[in-house]
Amino acid sequence: MSNAAGSGLSSPSPTTRLVVPKSVIARTQRCLKDRSAGYRESACVWVGRRYRATMEVSRVIFHHELGDDRATALSLELPEAAKFALYRDLADRQESLLALLHTHPEQWVGLSAIDEQNQVSSRVGFWSIVVPFYGVCDWAPQELGCHVRCECGWRRLAVDEVTSSLVIVHER
Ligand SMILES: [Zn+2]
Repeated sequence: MSNAAGSGLSSPSPTTRLVVPKSVIARTQRCLKDRSAGYRESACVWVGRRYRATMEVSRVIFHHELGDDRATALSLELPEAAKFALYRDLADRQESLLALLHTHPEQWVGLSAIDEQNQVSSRVGFWSIVVPFYGVCDWAPQELGCHVRCECGWRRLAVDEVTSSLVIVHER
């Protein structure tokens, strides 16, 4: 009854919460910054378990650990073979892809046309997060471009949605 998908006009579906351990955030920030090295894009995926209203990140996997990611200043692409190896690994561990993160050279954290097409997952609820300035500074959630996959493309979250849906937790 509450499913209003289809019109796409003024009824965005509720955003699934993305719960990330602080240690994963710290490693993500450090390794994206190191790999971008101030001159090229870098990327990683957050993987873990998906529940009805929550996705729990368990670990981060960097594109450059999976294979040559062909990163340039303005684009980045994971080869097919690396993608398939990733999907197999996740299936073996019964984990899901929850979010893709990649860096941009500047403050702009929207999705480019290439970003919109070049995704590792098109599943509804999947997050695509853009990190500004090649990740050189430790970012706060409100500085990120957080986009969620919908039935009809991508929807960028407003700042208050980011702060309420991206939940950083300390390890138990
Ligand atoms: Zn991009």
